[in-house]
Amino acid sequence: MSCFTALTFVACKKDAKTPAQNEEISQSTLDKIKDLGFGTSNVRKVDEGYLVEGDIVLTDELLNSNPDQTLLRIANNEQYRTTNLVTHLPRTITVTVSGLGQAYMDGTDLAISRYNNLNLQLHFQRITSGKADITIQGFNQPPSGGYITLGSSGFPTRQGNPYGTIKMNTNQYAYGTNPDPTYVGSVIQHEMGHCIGFRHTDYMDRSYSCGGSAVNEGASNVGAVWIPGTPTGPDANSWMLACSDGKDRTFNNNDKTALNYLY
Ligand SMILES: [Zn+2]
Repeated sequence: MSCFTALTFVACKKDAKTPAQNEEISQSTLDKIKDLGFGTSNVRKVDEGYLVEGDIVLTDELLNSNPDQTLLRIANNEQYRTTNLVTHLPRTITVTVSGLGQAYMDGTDLAISRYNNLNLQLHFQRITSGKADITIQGFNQPPSGGYITLGSSGFPTRQGNPYGTIKMNTNQYAYGTNPDPTYVGSVIQHEMGHCIGFRHTDYMDRSYSCGGSAVNEGASNVGAVWIPGTPTGPDANSWMLACSDGKDRTFNNNDKTALNYLY
């Protein structure tokens, strides 16, 4: 039950090794995923590519690219991808909310204001007509194995553009029948982090935020760069922790350091 109250951005790790899930995925694909530094224990085929760590879409383009393997390390539990960042800075990234209710629009505005308050070279703007860089849309998926997926997104393209789609779970067990915009917004804030190139803070041990037994996603430390001035120990309350605490969560000081470092 504690598993369920620890709501997650991701799918459950309890049933992570159901053989059927990986049977459809070729070994060469799993090898590519591993080469990118992601775990292969719970890979799922989705329309856009492959879903890893529960809420990150690795597109075929990304899998078939040959990115450098540099990871930016903020602390032992914080390793951020620097491959395929958003380029052409300074830059305004437009965001639109499609087919979702007011709480999602309010949540989007909250997330955008938090990024913009950092005065980064990336600026976000919500638009209500025209094609946006990032479209936020819904999907409906019930809980599975004690966890529920709150949202999903992916990494920037090789051309240096942000990932274009954030999917938010409209199932009542995700945000309830009357979603709290601060909670919805903090999930959107997290998914926007993936869209501009951040990976999970605690990918080395998801149990840090997700609970349960320690799960090492199998990623390598090779090439990790520690940012001076940030701690080397576990980092509580990062906005890029793999699992949500079910509350409003925003940037901690190390997150701000990392965002300022990259953007
Ligand atoms: Zn995530």
